[in-house]
Amino acid sequence: MAISESEIAQVRAATDIVALISEQVALKKSGRRWSGLCPFHGEKTPSFSVNAEEGRYYCFGCRASGDQITFVRETQHLDFIDALRLLADRAGIELHEDANAGPARKDRQEFLSAMERAVEWYHDRLLHAPDARPARDYLRSRGIGGDVARRFKLGWAPDEWDALTTSLKLNEKVLLGTGLGFVNKRDRRQDALRARIIFPIFDPAGKAIAIGGRILPPPFGVGAREDGRVEPKYKNSPETTIYSKRRTLYALNWAKDDIIRSGEIIVCEGYTDVIAFFTAGMPRAVATCGTALGEDHFRTMRNFAKRIVLAYDADQAGQSAAASVYQWERQHEVDVAVARLPRGSDPAELAQRDPEALRQAIASAVPFLQFRLERVLDGANVATAEGRARAAEIAMVVLAEHPSELVRDQYVMQVADRLRIDVARLRPRVAEMAHNPALRVVPSEPPPMASVRPRQSGEAMPRPGLEALRLQVHFPNDVKDRLIAPYFVHETQREIFEGLASGKPLSDVIDDLQRRGEDEAAHVLSRLAVDELDREYTVDDVTAVVSQLVRSAVRAELKNVERDLRDGRMEPDVANATIRDVKERIELLETPQGAQAERDLRAWLLERFATTSK
Ligand SMILES: [Zn+2]
Repeated sequence: MAISESEIAQVRAATDIVALISEQVALKKSGRRWSGLCPFHGEKTPSFSVNAEEGRYYCFGCRASGDQITFVRETQHLDFIDALRLLADRAGIELHEDANAGPARKDRQEFLSAMERAVEWYHDRLLHAPDARPARDYLRSRGIGGDVARRFKLGWAPDEWDALTTSLKLNEKVLLGTGLGFVNKRDRRQDALRARIIFPIFDPAGKAIAIGGRILPPPFGVGAREDGRVEPKYKNSPETTIYSKRRTLYALNWAKDDIIRSGEIIVCEGYTDVIAFFTAGMPRAVATCGTALGEDHFRTMRNFAKRIVLAYDADQAGQSAAASVYQWERQHEVDVAVARLPRGSDPAELAQRDPEALRQAIASAVPFLQFRLERVLDGANVATAEGRARAAEIAMVVLAEHPSELVRDQYVMQVADRLRIDVARLRPRVAEMAHNPALRVVPSEPPPMASVRPRQSGEAMPRPGLEALRLQVHFPNDVKDRLIAPYFVHETQREIFEGLASGKPLSDVIDDLQRRGEDEAAHVLSRLAVDELDREYTVDDVTAVVSQLVRSAVRAELKNVERDLRDGRMEPDVANATIRDVKERIELLETPQGAQAERDLRAWLLERFATTSK
C-alpha cells in the first residue's frame, strides 16, 4: 500500500498530539510537558507524558511510547494504514492511495458520512417541520427548549415509512451498515425509526455513530400503532462497524471537558437524564446506550475521571452487580459512588422540579458499599433482637463482598453501632464470609449468579426460583401452601414447579419433562434432586427463600405495570398507587407484618396473571 512519506509527515504535522490524546486522557500541563494517567496501564499517579512539540508520548510506568499514529493504532486497535486514514480524515488531508483503499475503511467512511447527514436531516425536521410540533411540545414540557435541542442535535423521525431513506437516497448497504434502515419483506427500503424523537449518539471525538429514538407518550404521541402493536419506549441503532454499544457512552463528547475539570463523571440511565444534568449546570453526565454499565465503560471512564457517580433510581443502583463494581474499582483505580436520589424520582424529573436537590444528591453521593449498607440498615427492624440479628446477617453479606479488609472493617463498626451488636462478634463472621462466598446467603439482595447452570442454553437462572425449587424438592410440606406458579418468572423453573406441584414421585416428574422435550427443566431438576443441603432449614429460612422469590416476581411484574403506564394502558393514578402499595408491601416482607404482606402480594400477582392471560 503506497502512501508517500511526505503525506505521512503531513498528517503527523497536522495532528495536534495533545488534542488527540485529550480525547481519551485528561492531560494537565506541567512545565513544558503534558501529563496524565496512562491509558495503557492502570495507575493512580500520572506517569504518562506528552511532548507537544515533538509529537511524542511516553509512559514512565509501562514504557508505552509513540507518535500520533501509534496512539491511534494502540487505543483503537487499527493497523497503520487505518490509523493514518483516520488522522488524515480528521485533518482534512486527502491521501493518494484510493486505488488500494481497504474496502472496510472506505465503507466506514461512507457510513459515518451517511450518519452525519441523517442526524442533520432529523435535526432539521425537529426544528422546522410542521409535523414535529407534538415532539417540540413534548420536549418543551420536559424543559427542553430550542437551544437545548440544538446543543444535543435532537431530531424528529416523521411518522412515515421511508422519509429519511428517500430524502437522502440511502442505498441498501448504507442502510444496513449504519442501522438507519433495512429492507422490508416487500423488498423495499425502510427507515429504522419512525414517529420518534431522535437522540444522536456521538463518539468522543464528536462523530455521529448511532441514533436512539424515543416514542412520544400520550397525549403528545399516538401510543399504540394502528395494528395494535405496542412499540418499545426506546429504540436504538443496532451494533454496526461504527457503533459498539458496550464501549459507547452517550454525551461523552460534550461532557469530556467538564469531566476532566471536575474529576467526576455522572452516569445516568437515559438520554433525557443526561440532558437534565447539563441544563442543571452539571455538564458532566453520560449514559450507557441500551446496555448495562460494564467493564468496557469503566475502561473508557477511568481515562477521564477518578470519581464515578451513579445517578440511577435508587432501586436500580442497588441492583448493579456489586462484586463486579468492586473489581472494576480496584482494577481501574476509580471510586464508584451512588447519588441518593429521592425514592421514585429520576434526574430528569428532579432537575425540573428542584435542581438544587439534584446538585445536592450528586455532591453528597456515597461510596457504593455505603449506599448498599444504608439500604439494609434503613430497612432493618431494629426494635427487636431478631430484627437486628437478621439485619446484621444481611449487612455482613453485603460487607463481605468488598475485597478490602480495611474497608470492610470500617463499615463493620458502623453496623455494630447501628444495630447495637458487639463488633467482636461481627468481625470474624465477616472475615469468614469474605473468604468463603458460599456462606453469603442473602435474603433481600438481588440474586447473584445462579448456582445451577442449565447445560444447553448457558443462560443463568434466577437464584430465588432455584432456591425455592430446592425447598420444594427437599421439604415439600414446608412450602406446599406458599408457592404458586406466577412466582416463577423463569419459564423452565415454572415448568419444574408445576411438575413437582402435581405431587407425582420425583423420577416420574423428570421422565415427564424429558418426554415433553423439556430437557433443560429435566436437567435442572435432576441436579436439584441430588443437592447436598448444607444445613437445616428453619421456618425463618423458608420465609427468607419464599420472600426473596415473591420479591423478585413482584418486581418483574412491576416492570409490566410501568410499561402499561407508559403505554397508556393504565391510568396514571391507578398505576402509581399500585406501584406504591406493592413496594410498601415488599418492604414489609420478613418483618412481623410479613405474613400479611406475602398474602397481599400473592393475591395481587394472581389477579394480574388472571387478567393478563385472558
Ligand atoms: Zn503506562
